[in-house]
Amino acid sequence: MVLNEDSDRLEDEAGLYCKQMQHLQGTTVPKFYGLFSGTYINMSRKTRAVRCIITEEWGTSMATVKHIPMELRITIAEAALRIHAAGVQHNDLRLTNILISSDNSEVRITDFDNAGEHDCGRAMPVILYSWEPTLADFGCQEIHDFMCYFGLWTPDDVFYLHRWHSIHLSSTAEEMLENAKPDVPGEPEEQLLAKADAVLKQYTKRYGARFPFIGPPGSPIEEGTDAASFARLEPKVIGLDRLEKCRKPVKTHELAA
Ligand SMILES: [Zn+2]
Repeated sequence: MVLNEDSDRLEDEAGLYCKQMQHLQGTTVPKFYGLFSGTYINMSRKTRAVRCIITEEWGTSMATVKHIPMELRITIAEAALRIHAAGVQHNDLRLTNILISSDNSEVRITDFDNAGEHDCGRAMPVILYSWEPTLADFGCQEIHDFMCYFGLWTPDDVFYLHRWHSIHLSSTAEEMLENAKPDVPGEPEEQLLAKADAVLKQYTKRYGARFPFIGPPGSPIEEGTDAASFARLEPKVIGLDRLEKCRKPVKTHELAA
């Protein structure tokens, strides 16, 4: 139940459930039972108006989940993509607003009080583990942020000696040092190489299992052509783009008074 005195926002939220997301109720978002109006008597014995949205009580919040397995992250990403494909941007997509079933197999995205209509500008498929595209190439901020946050893309930069370096241009310790040299005059080269090596080892430990799919860092990627490189390196892994845009007209049901 969402209780709110901001009537306009409640109506907007109810509208999204009834129109854009009607076909997602019970699979991607909780079932929507209605927008209700009523009165209550407050502590000062005055009658006050109240409105609330009632949705299905479902699952538990992910806010307390410490480790989120990759399969579950994919399930959440697919739910977020369905919502965007339906023409809605959540605007507050965090763990508190994601519900999970007891067996971890299903999720629902909830709390649409900040959400709004959205003409998704996503310009490319969302492909698991692919090199992280630039926001400009990708075209949708919320999904881009989400994919980065959940580690579903492979970041293409590493932090070394005070700044970020492209892993493609600094895929060996020697290259990394060469690119960073202007930042660290005077430090012994051996020490700097050891640091670069440690950074690369940590990166490989975290992302190395993905290289067979996306090519190792340093595979030829032309600067400034991210979209083209992305397409060329399209990995043979699970695609999240099997979701079709679903803008079919939906029935609007009456809001309960
Ligand atoms: Zn979008």
